[in-house]
Amino acid sequence: MAEEILRTEGLCKRFGALEVLRGITVSIHRQEIVSVIGPSGGGKSTFLRCLNLLEQPTSGKVLFHRQEMTDRKADICRYRQKIGMVFQNFHVFPNLTVLENITLAPVLEKKLPRAQAEREAMALLQRVGLREKAGEYPRKLSGGQKQRLAIVRAMAMEPEVMLFDEPTSALDPEMVKEVLGVIEDLAQSGMTIVIVTHEMAFARDVADQVIFMDGGIIVEQGDARQVIEHPREERTRQFLSRYAES
Ligand code: ADP
Ligand code: MG
Repeated sequence: MAEEILRTEGLCKRFGALEVLRGITVSIHRQEIVSVIGPSGGGKSTFLRCLNLLEQPTSGKVLFHRQEMTDRKADICRYRQKIGMVFQNFHVFPNLTVLENITLAPVLEKKLPRAQAEREAMALLQRVGLREKAGEYPRKLSGGQKQRLAIVRAMAMEPEVMLFDEPTSALDPEMVKEVLGVIEDLAQSGMTIVIVTHEMAFARDVADQVIFMDGGIIVEQGDARQVIEHPREERTRQFLSRYAES
């Protein structure tokens, strides 16, 4: 098995009296594709946000290359640069062009010379079929194009892991495929990916590992095809039956 990149141990998160994560332990290896599935409100987004420490866990650990990032002395800023994130609602900057959206962080945070950042950005845009949109503002893009831009912007920081939180849930059906296609290309190029998704066919066919979360715990986890096609737990079965073609 490839080297472990990310690990959580007994991750808990509470908002006031509400226990949202109740002991999540997962291990993510280099080039692994992990799909997180489960009903709304089950803690999937909170888990992703705790993974890159956008949210401070109440207890438990996040380890990156065996180094504890939940340690008070850890360099969280550097860690976050290594973890790209893509959200359901794109979160692209409306006042910047497509190209500027992509080069902003590499120039400001990684101190890349602008010309180099632009060259690399154009290569990434080419890869996702958006090269001719480089000078446009996001309002001129479709939802699918905005999401491809958000993915490219995250990739421009050369992260070691990409986190996707329901990247296709806000898209019209005809745009879902183009965005899943880009994520699948990333997977094939060797990126390590954690993706929260309701696209069960994608989870089954592209992911290595599937984690079914409900009520802040992992109800079932394992080989993607096994969990999706032959779930062991009754709760997993009930959840998946809603997605069965009838
Ligand atoms: P999912 O992504 O699986 O739908 P979430 O992680 O978004 O689940 O939410 C899990 C629970 O935590 C929900 O009940 C939600 O209302 C609650 N929650 C999430 N973020 C916050 C927050 N910042 N403050 C209070 N409650 C929150
Ligand atoms: Mg969510």
